[in-house]
Amino acid sequence: MRPRTRSSVPYLQRVLFATMLESSTEKPVIRVAVFSAQPHDKHFFNCVNQECFQSLHAELVFHTSPLSKETAALAGRCDAVCVFVNDCVDEDVLQLLLDQGVRGVFLRCAGFNNVDLKAAKKLGLFVARVPAYSPEAVAEFAVALILTLNRRTHRAYNRVREGNFDLSSLLGFNMHGKTVGIVGVGKIGLAAARIFKGFGCNLLAYDPYEVDEFKALGAYTTFENLLQQSDIVTLHCPLLVSTKHLISRASLMNLKWGAMLINTSRGGIIDTAAVIDALKSGQIGALGLDVYEKEAGLFFVDHSSDIIHDDVFQRLLTFPNVLVTGHQAFLTGEALTEIAETTLQNLQHFAHGTACSNALVGGDAI
Ligand code: NAD
Repeated sequence: MRPRTRSSVPYLQRVLFATMLESSTEKPVIRVAVFSAQPHDKHFFNCVNQECFQSLHAELVFHTSPLSKETAALAGRCDAVCVFVNDCVDEDVLQLLLDQGVRGVFLRCAGFNNVDLKAAKKLGLFVARVPAYSPEAVAEFAVALILTLNRRTHRAYNRVREGNFDLSSLLGFNMHGKTVGIVGVGKIGLAAARIFKGFGCNLLAYDPYEVDEFKALGAYTTFENLLQQSDIVTLHCPLLVSTKHLISRASLMNLKWGAMLINTSRGGIIDTAAVIDALKSGQIGALGLDVYEKEAGLFFVDHSSDIIHDDVFQRLLTFPNVLVTGHQAFLTGEALTEIAETTLQNLQHFAHGTACSNALVGGDAI
């Protein structure tokens, strides 16, 4: 349920801002500090801003640094910040932003586990996200991880380039007839289910909220039964207090021996130390990760000349049956266009004081 209350001062600031936009002949520019900005963010946001949102007069100020207490000052003279999955948006950071005049936080992603929504509400800030963007982008990437791990195309690629045509250790299995367990059947889980159905897989799902669309493709079951029955388990639930370390030492005891585990959702859903032990014992037959619980500060940056100090992460990379990618499941042109469009639409609602259905805090019409 969307929180409805706001503290009065930022509310009045928003009213004032919206009124200025309406009455001024020369529209004020709304300045947005975009944190953790990668070249693809700059490209897609600038294109969409110039092509579709000229009347918004948004000035996007791109910063490669992630948002933190140390970098919050970069948002000085900005009305809003735009953040991504690993930016720190806790109470201290929100307070620092507000002190500089920032009134809106715009997530350019679906998950919002890194934002203290309670604090944002208390401070009267507006927070909005992009709840849906091309769920197929992430679902298809989960399938890419599965097929690569199964048929070892990553190893075959390297072998053939070195003139090694030996087929040993490349043995895979048919997807057809295998049971896939989907944890979290929301937009991405459903998109994944449709693809697996096309392969001829049997589908099981665990989700506290059941939808008819999945019932036409497979069967809902308990989390324990899903782990016991599935040859492949793929995680598509959000990171919440209730899903933190859902894959733990205890739950892994239920996993079918040698099953494949895939996580394209959020790193914190998996207890990495427990998963490493399960890989060592053979309980987990293969592991595909696009997310990692300590990915902040590691992913999205070229560390190829650095010493990586995270020994748990480094241990993961030593397994031949583990494939790790750096949070790239969303990275398609279609998804990036939709992310930029929805973020700028959210910004437009914020600037004009109109109701924003993607708001997590604030967002009622003023
Ligand atoms: P969604 O909100 O449409 O679906 C999430 C589903 O999880 C819902 O059906 C919900 O009922 C279910 N759920 C909630 N608690 C659960 C629990 N305890 N056990 C099982 N299911 C539970 O979200 P979505 O758009 O499908 O995205 C899912 C997640 O994927 C996001 O929260 C985000 O963390 C992640 N994601 C990752 C990338 C990436 O690039 N790797 C990109 C986008 C989203």
